[in-house]
Amino acid sequence: MALIVHKYGGTSMGSPDRIRNVAKRVAKWARAGHQMVVVPSAMSGETNRLLGLAKELSPTSSTPALMRELDMIAATGEQVSVGLLAIALQAEGMDAISYTGWQVPVATDSSYTKARIESIDDTKVRADLAAGKVVVITGFQGVDEGNNITTLGRGGSDTSAVAIAAAMKADECLIYTDVDGVYTTDPRIVPEARRLHTISFEEMLEMASLGSKVLQIRSVEFAGKYRVPMRVLSSFTPWDIDINEEAKSGTLITFEEDEKMEQAVVSGIAFNRDEAKVTLLGVPDKPGIAFQILGPVAEANIDVDVIIQNVSQDGKTDFSFTVHRNDYQRAIELLEKTVGPAVQAAKVIGDTRICKVSIVGIGMRSHVGIASKMFRSLSEEGINIQMITTSEIKTSVVIDEKYMELAVRALHRAFDLDQEKTA
Ligand code: ADP
Ligand code: ASP
Ligand code: MG
Repeated sequence: MALIVHKYGGTSMGSPDRIRNVAKRVAKWARAGHQMVVVPSAMSGETNRLLGLAKELSPTSSTPALMRELDMIAATGEQVSVGLLAIALQAEGMDAISYTGWQVPVATDSSYTKARIESIDDTKVRADLAAGKVVVITGFQGVDEGNNITTLGRGGSDTSAVAIAAAMKADECLIYTDVDGVYTTDPRIVPEARRLHTISFEEMLEMASLGSKVLQIRSVEFAGKYRVPMRVLSSFTPWDIDINEEAKSGTLITFEEDEKMEQAVVSGIAFNRDEAKVTLLGVPDKPGIAFQILGPVAEANIDVDVIIQNVSQDGKTDFSFTVHRNDYQRAIELLEKTVGPAVQAAKVIGDTRICKVSIVGIGMRSHVGIASKMFRSLSEEGINIQMITTSEIKTSVVIDEKYMELAVRALHRAFDLDQEKTA
C-alpha cells in the first residue's frame, strides 16, 4: 500500500462528467489498496471568471487591501471543486471528505496572489486516511498567520499537490492534466512536439521558469527540495485502463543523470509572452549606474529578468531590462518620474510586444556551439534578436512577439526535437 497524491487541473475538472471520470479513476487507485489524497483545481475558466468580476469593480487598483479580497474571491473556485469531487467519490461508493486550505491548514506567508507555503499540518488528513477515507484538498490556496485566505499564484494547484506530497512523504505525486506529459515544447504551438519519457528536475525547473506552463515553477522547486517522485500524465485516458500501465505513462521528473535517460543536448523549448522591455537611453556609463537604476526598481517590488547594457559612446550608454507585463506600467512610471531624471537619462522607452524564447538542456553543459546554432537558425528566418541571456543549461533570446511561433518552430526543427533520441 502506498500513499499517493493525485492532482487534477481545470480542464480535467471542467464538467460534471469529467469530475465523475476523475472520481472513477481515484476510486480505482483506492481500490487497488492505496491511500489517496486528491488536489483538484477550479473548473476550467472559473478562476478567470472570478477575477474578471473583481476587475469590473476595480479595474486598476492593486493595493494590499484589494489583493486580499482577490484571494478571497479566487479561492472559491477550488472550494466548489473539492465539494463536487467529494460528492462524486461518494457516488462511487468511496468514503470521501473535502477540505479547504485553511481547514487543513496549509500555512502560507501573507503575499496575497503569490503566497508561499510555509508549513502543512497533516494531522487531520492522516487520521482520515487511517480511517479509510479519500481526502480531497483544495489546490491553489492557503491561510496566513492572521487567518486571511491566500492564493499561490496562477497555476498554483500544482504546488499545493507537490507540497502536500512532500509534507506527507507520499510515495508519488501524479499531476493529471490535458496533455499526456511534458513535451519538447508546447504541443499546441508545434504539433510535431514529442513527449519526453523522462525530464531531469533541473531541465523541468528551467522549462517552468522560462514559461512552460505545464507545471508551476514552485511545484518543481518543492519536488527538487524534498525529492518528491513526480509524474505528469493525462486525465483523458479511459479511467479504467490498467493501473500499472497508467502508473508508468506520461513523463517522470528524474533527479539523477541516468545513463539511460534521453541524452539530447537540447531537451526542450520554452517561450514566454508575459514580459515587457523598458530602456533608458543615454545614461552616463560610470560605476554604480546599474545599481542606481535597478535598486529603486527592486525596492518597488518589481522583478527584473533579462538585463542588457550597451557599449558606451562618448561616456553614454543605453540600459534595457525586462519586467513582467503586469508591472510594465509601474516600471515605466518609476523610470520616467524618478530613476530617469536621477541618472540623467536622455529618454525612457518601452515595448510590450516582445517575447522570450529559450532552449533548455543539461547537455548544453558539455557541448559548445549550441547558442550559435540557435542564433543561426533565427537569422535564417530573418528574426532579429533584441537581448540574449544564458546560463549553464539554457540560452534565451528576446525577440519581437510576432515572430514567436516561427522562432519556436524553427528551433524545434534545428535541434531535431521531433526525432526520438536513441543514445
Ligand atoms: P492544468 O489545468 O491541468 O493545470 P495547464 O493548462 O496549466 O493544465 O497546463 C497544461 C498545458 O500546458 C497544456 O495544455 C499545454 O498547452 C501547455 N504546455 C506548455 N508547454 C508545455 C510542454 N512543454 N509540454 C506539455 N504541455 C505544455
Ligand atoms: N485555479 C487556479 C488557476 O487557474 C490554480 C490552478 O489551476 O492551478 O490559476
Ligand atoms: Mg496548470
